[in-house]
Amino acid sequence: MYVCGPTVYDHPHIGNARSVVVYDILYRILIKLFGKNHVIYVRNITDIDDKIIDKAVQDEITIAELTKKTTEYFHQDMDYLSCLRPNFEPRATDHVQDMINIIDLLLAKEVAYKSADHVYFDVTKATDYAKLSGQSFDELFNSVRIDSSEGKKNPGDFVLWKPAKVEEDVSAKFDSPYGVGRPGWHIECSAMSHKFLGETFDIHGGGVDLVFPHHTNEIAQSRSAFSGSEYAKTWVHNGFLTVNHEKMSKSLGNFTTVKDLINKGIRGDVARLFLLGNHYRKPLDYNDKAINDANQMITYWYRAIEPIEAKTKCNESQISAEFMSALFEDMNTHKAIKIINDYAKEIYLSKTDDIKIEYASKLLSCARFIGLMNASCKEWFYSHVDSDKVEKLIKERKLAKEAKNWPLADSIRNKLLNSDIVIEDKADGSTTWKKKT
Ligand SMILES: [Zn+2]
Repeated sequence: MYVCGPTVYDHPHIGNARSVVVYDILYRILIKLFGKNHVIYVRNITDIDDKIIDKAVQDEITIAELTKKTTEYFHQDMDYLSCLRPNFEPRATDHVQDMINIIDLLLAKEVAYKSADHVYFDVTKATDYAKLSGQSFDELFNSVRIDSSEGKKNPGDFVLWKPAKVEEDVSAKFDSPYGVGRPGWHIECSAMSHKFLGETFDIHGGGVDLVFPHHTNEIAQSRSAFSGSEYAKTWVHNGFLTVNHEKMSKSLGNFTTVKDLINKGIRGDVARLFLLGNHYRKPLDYNDKAINDANQMITYWYRAIEPIEAKTKCNESQISAEFMSALFEDMNTHKAIKIINDYAKEIYLSKTDDIKIEYASKLLSCARFIGLMNASCKEWFYSHVDSDKVEKLIKERKLAKEAKNWPLADSIRNKLLNSDIVIEDKADGSTTWKKKT
């Protein structure tokens, strides 16, 4: 399975996160079906791109510094969402030669051409170019604005290689038979999927916004370069994510990153459950109610198993057939989550401990299968401390004490106590804190 990964120039937003979580579920299902040794999951990192070059200039750092830092953000955020790491995570800049090899093949077959220091792919030479999008060739190009400049033969032709600009950072410049420059975005994925999975592979995933032009162009390049290649046998596309029913965009001020969720104190399991709450192909709306609902649901599950947690058996054999068949139905996580919720209801309704334990074992095993409830009940209910918030309150209390505002200082102490935080004033004037045990 090959999934288009992040372009590392900024913190991942929640739409990016949805895509990663969706393919994480698919990865877990494939492992369950075929065994870990029979699944190869590749997700690339696009570490060369116009957006990266612009952002590095804006932040006054090198491209290498920017991509290293944002790759770390991406990993931290995906760990917060309990996503498994793919088997391979190739970086585009490590595979420029592989891209050049494919461009050479395309030039030799005359489906690509050099013009105005660029190398372009001639879209009129690809068979079934528009097929993935389900549109006709004309419809496809009528529906989008195409840049027809810079010596293209056809307005829809796309860049395989573009020349570097003199002022650009040296790390944005690569040698090639077509001059110093860098690859186009689409060729990156054709080259990296070929490198790790061969000419034809099973599944290609990504957001629905990538169908055209990105995935359409990947298919055109790879099938043209490798005669007889099917490229991906199956395409999987996840739906859009909106914020309060509006498209997420920086200009609308509703741009939400995973870091924003963390800063709001939303726990990883809550965010993950929210992201799985609708069928992956349908749109999903992020709003406060949806997050509250996810929080309530998972807390309800933890409350259900808490009294019998020690006796709960969590293992593969406890994962129910009805739960798996929901996931086998085109990855119906919405239905699978409802099944888990029904187990929680059954625990509350059951009269005997044996039956409660049976349902709790199913609940926990199914929830963990989709990457949820990895914490114990104790950790879930008692160890979630937002240390930044505690430190901030301790600082406010110190200022209150300095201003001899004793009522305020006391009320802050009590507020912390109510959150099970005990503070201790030391002789040197500092204050330490710990969780109440
Ligand atoms: Zn891609």
